[in-house]
This record gives sequence, C-alpha cells and structure tokens, in this order.
Amino acid sequence: MKQIALYGKGGIGKSTTSSNLSAALSERGLDILQIGCDPKRDSTRMLMHGRFIPTVMDLVRTQGDTAITLSDVEFPGYNGVRCVEAGGPEPGVGCAGRGIIATFQLLEKFGALKGDVIVYDVLGDVVCGGFAMPMREGYAQEIYLVTSGELMSLYAANNICKAIKRLASRVKSNCRLAGVICNAKGQPKEEELVAEFARQVNSNLIEFIPRDRVVQLAELNRKTVIEYEPASAQAECYRSLAARVMENTRLTIPTPLEIDDLEHLAYSFI
Ligand code: ADP
Ligand code: MG
Repeated sequence: MKQIALYGKGGIGKSTTSSNLSAALSERGLDILQIGCDPKRDSTRMLMHGRFIPTVMDLVRTQGDTAITLSDVEFPGYNGVRCVEAGGPEPGVGCAGRGIIATFQLLEKFGALKGDVIVYDVLGDVVCGGFAMPMREGYAQEIYLVTSGELMSLYAANNICKAIKRLASRVKSNCRLAGVICNAKGQPKEEELVAEFARQVNSNLIEFIPRDRVVQLAELNRKTVIEYEPASAQAECYRSLAARVMENTRLTIPTPLEIDDLEHLAYSFI
C-alpha cells in the first residue's frame, strides 16, 4: 500500500490536485482512500459532488468516539474513492493537529487505513507538530509538495522540506520527499523556476499542471475535472500525475534552502 501526502500553502490547489489524482488513480482500478487533513474540510467535496461530509472531529465532539461507526466517517465518492475529512477544532480554540490524530486512531481502529493508495491532503502553511502528524507518525511516507512559482508558496514548500528533513531520521517516521508538483499560477518561466527549486531541494518536478478555466467550471458543476471533462488536456495532466506517482521510486531527504537563497532563486526567474 502506498501512502502519499500532498502538502502545500493554503489555497495553492492541494485539494483540487488531490481529488483529481484520486479520481485518476481510481480509473486505474485502484482502491483509493483520500483523507482531508485541513480544517477547511473541503478536500473531498468534488469527489462527493459538492457535499461537505461530516468531519471526524465534529462527530467525536457531538457523539464521543465510542458511538461512531466507519460508515459515519467514510463515504464512497466518485468511482468508489473512499472519502474522509478529519475536520478541525472550533474556531479560536483547540489544536488542529488533535483532529488529525483522533481521525487516524479511529480509522486504524476500524481497519480502514487500507487499499492500494492513501492520499493525505494536508495544510502546509503551518508545519506544527499537528500538521506534521501524518509524516511524523509514519502514516504518510511519500511527501509531494504542491507549489506555484510564487515566492510565498515556494516558501511554504521549503518549510515543509525542513520538517521532512527533521523527521526523516526518526525510525517511526521514515518519511521522504517524493517530488514537487507545480500547480501553476500562469507566471512566466514558472515551470523552469519550480523545476530548479525541486532540484535544489534534492528532488524533482513530478508534474506541471497548468492553470486552466476548466478547473473552475468543474468546481461550479461540483465535480473533479476527471469526471466533468474527461477528454480535456487538464484531465490528461492529472492522469499523467497519477502515472508518475505510481512509478516514482526516487524518495529523498530534502536539502531545504536558506531564505536568501530562495529569494535569489525566485528573483533569477523574473
Ligand atoms: P487548497 O486545497 O490548497 O487550499 P484548492 O484546491 O481548494 O486549494 O484550490 C484553491 C482554488 O484554486 C480553487 O478555487 C480551485 O478551483 C483553484 N485551482 C486549483 N488548481 C487550479 C488550476 N490548475 N487551474 C485553475 N484553478 C485552479
Ligand atoms: Mg484544501
């Protein structure tokens, strides 16, 4: 079983990319579990045709964890992709990481952490212990960074590299950087910049995903691009990403950049 995580800055396109990746993987006949680990709780929405499924955190809060069954938290989405949302604390109080921990413990109890691929969709603005949980505790072994060529999303990706480097040496964790996904904003020389960033952090660019209006159209129709426009070039990009993820064997310990070097890199691709 492959356990991969997509980390990146908020709003960069993790959930869009994760959902389309899961949909593309399911087309290959694989059993896929997607777990949203972002308090925004919308990771699996397009796989669920627009539905916000109940989050594990909300259910634990309202029912207590002993009363919950697997069918309360895991929902079949597009093409059989199994969907779970960890959820988060009530705004302003509590720790988001706790929701992630509670979710994994519950899923483990149900024997639900199974299948061909588990896709974790994790917020990466803050790499506090909670959000690092999927890699720290050995769940997510292959980490993909989702970034555009914008400095702030590269900055977040670089910070995640620091977390992976720190955790890579821990026996329990064993996580590695598996690659960088460029979810483009459409800036000039963006692919070259992100490919060079990937090289400098000791990894490689796994896929370049262009910015395309079809993503918004699919979203407005409450579907992944794979389902909404299966013959589109954008859908092909997600299928190509799925192929590359399945055949990828290059797992590395990243070499994060100093902030000055990161800024210099971004500057040299203006
Ligand atoms: P995240 O999960 O990282 O917070 P989302 O996946 O929710 O980000 O994406 C944020 C917004 O960006 C969404 O409205 C989505 O439609 C849009 N988006 C993501 N990827 C693309 C793309 N390749 N082309 C066009 N729009 C995109
Ligand atoms: Mg998201």
